[in-house]
Amino acid sequence: MLLDRHQRPLRNLRLSVTDRCNLRCSYCMPEAEYAWLPREDILDFEELERLVGVFVSLGVNKVRLTGGEPLLRRGVTDLVRRLAARPARAKPTRASEAGSGTLAPRLATKNTFS
Ligand code: SF4
Repeated sequence: MLLDRHQRPLRNLRLSVTDRCNLRCSYCMPEAEYAWLPREDILDFEELERLVGVFVSLGVNKVRLTGGEPLLRRGVTDLVRRLAARPARAKPTRASEAGSGTLAPRLATKNTFS
């Protein structure tokens, strides 16, 4: 089990699935231009799923997909489906998305696991 420095169990995982965002909040992305991460430096869905499995085995039970704007990651709903399809002992009890909300209508899958 993962513990913080006060010996409390770590139950929540924020998983960044993209560095891109369709907004430009000045406190977050103040530059005019950005060099996005090259594709080979971004974990694919298999790697992200494996990572979630490792964290779940260490006691994490909530996963929040974040970014940038997570809904800009092509096929992100497939990742949600993959996580939901994992065996009960190997998946989080809850997953959610932490984006700006501007692209929420694109989200086709209900992503609560409980
Ligand atoms: S919506 Fe979030 S990720 Fe996008 S620029 Fe604003 S703070 Fe950054």
